Amino acid sequence: MPALPGPSPASEHALPERLAALAIRPGDPGYGAVRHTYTRAGHPAAVLPVRDTRDIAAALAHARDEHLPFTVRSGGHGISGRSTNDGGLVVDLARFAAVTVLDADTGLVRVGAGARWGDVAAALAPYGLALSSGDTGDVGVGGLATAGGIGLMARAHGLTIDRMRAAELVLADGSTVRTDAGHDPDLFWAVRGAGANFGIATAFEFQASRVNGVCVDISVFDAADTVGLLTRWGQWTESSPRTVTSFLTLAGGPGSRPLAQVMTVYAGEDLDAARTALRPLAAVGPVLGNQLLPVPYHQLLPTSHQPQHAQQPMSVSRSGLLHHIDDQVARAVTAVATAAGIVQLRSVGGAVNDTPAAAMAYAHRTQNFSLMAATVPALRDDLDRQWDRLAPLIDGLYLSFETRTGPRQLQNAFPPPVLDRLITLKRHYDPGHLFDNNFALPSTPRPV
Ligand SMILES: Cc1cc2nc3c(=O)[nH]c(=O)nc-3n(C[C@H](O)[C@H](O)[C@H](O)COP(=O)(O)OP(=O)(O)OC[C@H]3O[C@@H](n4cnc5c(N)ncnc54)[C@H](O)[C@@H]3O)c2cc1C
Repeated sequence: MPALPGPSPASEHALPERLAALAIRPGDPGYGAVRHTYTRAGHPAAVLPVRDTRDIAAALAHARDEHLPFTVRSGGHGISGRSTNDGGLVVDLARFAAVTVLDADTGLVRVGAGARWGDVAAALAPYGLALSSGDTGDVGVGGLATAGGIGLMARAHGLTIDRMRAAELVLADGSTVRTDAGHDPDLFWAVRGAGANFGIATAFEFQASRVNGVCVDISVFDAADTVGLLTRWGQWTESSPRTVTSFLTLAGGPGSRPLAQVMTVYAGEDLDAARTALRPLAAVGPVLGNQLLPVPYHQLLPTSHQPQHAQQPMSVSRSGLLHHIDDQVARAVTAVATAAGIVQLRSVGGAVNDTPAAAMAYAHRTQNFSLMAATVPALRDDLDRQWDRLAPLIDGLYLSFETRTGPRQLQNAFPPPVLDRLITLKRHYDPGHLFDNNFALPSTPRPV
């Protein structure tokens, strides 16, 4: 059997004129600012700050014809660092960053995939609108909105993809499509959870929520009794009204004093109501400090727009979804936290679980927590030893917080009927596997 052609560096190939006109290549003055991502250093042959969908189609055709490594970038904050490469093309969507309010009354907005969530929040604020996205303003729209979006108002307003009403994509054959519930509904279903496998999203329409302001509480706890703290925080979170969304970060690692930082957002501007809802939080553990403030939502998501330079050394991360944090789970999470550099628990549930599991490719609608553990490559094995003990207690995986991409991760991310449907759609929309850079779906049925 003849060998399949492998990827070859783009530098060996002349770029078509259209792409050469915009390419930023090694040696160009701007190259240092665009070559890397948040977690990974890269050496792409050309970064293409595409201007329109014809540029994108040209880049896709060139990558396919020349068998080049090929990567899509929106905000460059993918935790798994897949939005750069070595020797290939990077389609950079930074110019697709417009945020337009289509209907201020209904909250319908159109957001470019290359915008940052902090800029989206700032643009919607004057209209009293907001989208719950994530906890970081510099994260890009495209990566998050094709996977899920567990944001600071998740329990009040659902995942980011739950608010999506349409998506515009360039498909593998270079054609453009606008998909929604009535047009290519299978594609619209797949984009919301497994979008990176199906095309390059250039823009989305969302139904933003009416949010005039929120109240935020930052509390720091002594986490010497980590197990007790986690179980009490978990119980409190689950029993809270859905206006309350709480993110808990355990930082420390071997030998350091365990501390927990809890960031809780009350999705409303009534400070007294927030105080009442958050009162039980003080009882989850010894409080070392806390502050509760009313703030405009967009102030929680500042953007820096600083060039990425692989500034995040914790480039190994593991993801799992949990129903409850009982004693057994809390013990296993504590062991993971001791082995890893950082553990984050984000509350989901509430409005997230109002969406039927079959509605979109992200199908996890019964869990109450998303867990992420991250560490440096040198501690990967230590983390995995503890993670393997936790694994039987986990139900599901959120792609955005996982750096492994094997069949087991795919099966954890997508329950069997979802994965089967995605594989069928992959054969239709991306038969040549151009979009395999991020949790590639196979083209044959999943192994039993
Ligand atoms: C500091 C930090 C905090 C985070 N907090 C949260 C959080 O609170 N909640 C949450 O849900 N997530 C969170 N994330 C995860 C984040 O949502 C994902 O890492 C997301 O992929 C980043 O989006 P990006 O556009 O910046 O990624 P990029 O690095 O630009 O892209 C990552 C990958 O996504 C795919 N992709 C990107 N753009 C497109 C597109 N336009 N069309 C098709 N595929 C595309 C590509 O496969 C690409 O390789 C956080 C990440 C970081 C680094």
